Amino acid sequence: MQEPVDLLICNGLIITQDEKHQIFYETDLAVNNGQIIAIGKDLPYQTNHKIDAHRKAVMPGFVDSHMHETLTRGVCEDLPLNRWLDEICFPLDRSHTYETIYAAALMNQLEMIRGGITTFIDIYRFPAACAEVAMRSGLRGIFVPQIMISPSDVGESIESSEKFVSDWKGRSPLITPGFGPHAPYSLPPESYSKIGALAEKYDVPIHTHLSETQWEVGLIRDQFGCTSTEMLQRAGV
Ligand SMILES: [Zn+2]
Repeated sequence: MQEPVDLLICNGLIITQDEKHQIFYETDLAVNNGQIIAIGKDLPYQTNHKIDAHRKAVMPGFVDSHMHETLTRGVCEDLPLNRWLDEICFPLDRSHTYETIYAAALMNQLEMIRGGITTFIDIYRFPAACAEVAMRSGLRGIFVPQIMISPSDVGESIESSEKFVSDWKGRSPLITPGFGPHAPYSLPPESYSKIGALAEKYDVPIHTHLSETQWEVGLIRDQFGCTSTEMLQRAGV
């Protein structure tokens, strides 16, 4: 009698990330207890969960290293960043509540699963809503509350972010909380310093926008006489 396994994926194009980056054509893959136990042709296992992967790729999940769990897909593009932020983004950001972000996270995380994304970094508002959804979706997420000092009413505060980090750190192996200072033009160096110290205190990551446009680079150079990266370095981040 053939050995039972939890999942058998058959006849797929298997793209590995082993040392040789091997690729196998029309090949089977067996999974048991959450681990890949065999890759080969016509594997001798039986299962109640079989997927025919003919003409499909079987590969590790994609990582989306920067996303915002908003509901504003494709809203008014083709504007310079500073105008797009002031005229489109910030008014929409301002209007969100925990409930609307929860709904947005349901949609965004479903969309990521559909696109083969298994890990993502989310920098936006109401991160607890998105993390709650991730507990249901099973995705791996790094959640960094988007902190903004100016304007002050469209993002998270340093205080609300610290609360989120202390609430969520260690809660799930798939969820990593952190700090998300928005950008060098929306937080002063002192705030970056404060956030840097908190990130060290809680041993969590920082994720930020940096040197996105010529406008930002010129603005920071005018204000501080250095690049955005140097500004963060001086702030101790
Ligand atoms: Zn962004």
